Amino acid sequence: MSLGEFDLIARYFNRPTRRAAVGPGDDCAVLAPRAGMQLAVSCDMLVEGRHFLPTVDPARLGHKALAVNLSDLAACGAEPLGCTLALALPRVDADWLEGFSAGLYALAETHGCELVGGDTTAGPLNICITVFGEVPAGGALLRNGARAGDAVWISHAPDGGIGDARLALEAFRGTVALPGDAFERVRRAMEQPQPRVALGVALRGIASAAIDVSDGLLGDLSHLLRRSAVGATLDADALPRSSDLAAQPLALQRLCGLSGGDDYELVFTAPEAARARVQAAAHEAAVAVTRIGRIEAASGLRVVDSQGRALADAWTSFDHFRS
Ligand code: ADP
Ligand code: MG
Repeated sequence: MSLGEFDLIARYFNRPTRRAAVGPGDDCAVLAPRAGMQLAVSCDMLVEGRHFLPTVDPARLGHKALAVNLSDLAACGAEPLGCTLALALPRVDADWLEGFSAGLYALAETHGCELVGGDTTAGPLNICITVFGEVPAGGALLRNGARAGDAVWISHAPDGGIGDARLALEAFRGTVALPGDAFERVRRAMEQPQPRVALGVALRGIASAAIDVSDGLLGDLSHLLRRSAVGATLDADALPRSSDLAAQPLALQRLCGLSGGDDYELVFTAPEAARARVQAAAHEAAVAVTRIGRIEAASGLRVVDSQGRALADAWTSFDHFRS
């Protein structure tokens, strides 16, 4: 995209930066991590039809494209520094660019994550953001620190839970009918997830392991278990649920909660003795956390109900290459 490329960048993606040593406009951006800190880096690509519906509001898309990346920083306990944006656009659509950049910058400013550079080209709509964050040297929260006896926790909105994004997807697919206000609420959960950045930072030195839920709780927790060489028992009835999800049939609640995906909540482990510190960290970050299970030495993930009865093994994680 040569015609208009520089005007487009100047107009929509070139707000001044304060924290970066060099922002957009040169061959490289230059970031300035503080002494004693390490850089945490993560990259996520969003493809139309696969990660978002073509009809999505561009401001919500700008929000979500950055949110899914900030969620990875959150899972590592990293504090956002900056990001780059690689964008392929089928055409220059001023309304779309206006909305997309406004949504992206609004979330970026909330989390102090400066847009420091990127690349722009013509092509099928594709959004690739790379985020850079700071963690104290050696202090990143990783997937491999869970130990037998630790509690398993999940974050959520104080009045929400997990599974709403999947419930919204089912409503879009027409497999469930929701009243208008419920549909708007779960649609917002799907389109504008809130990355748990403050919680990740507050959990440094408290959580033994963490991961963010992007592909479904069971699948993502399984990654953490494998990396930690442990297993777990999860109480499906302990999962936090919004009133909208709780109004659905139990089987649908379980599908959405256990294998829904697109939640962008943090699942983390911590020693049982750290319960009060976990709750204090959540309070500090203004989010809720719920204890949903326990780490065990025996590998594998066992899902039970509140009576301790094993649930059928049917709740597989959303997998990009299977569905
Ligand atoms: P180069 O050819 O050196 O890669 P470009 O011409 O692609 O540089 O980009 C010019 C400047 O604009 C660079 O500093 C780049 O980081 C920035 N930039 C390009 N696209 C974007 C974008 N979508 N968002 C933010 N900055 C961008
Ligand atoms: Mg370039």
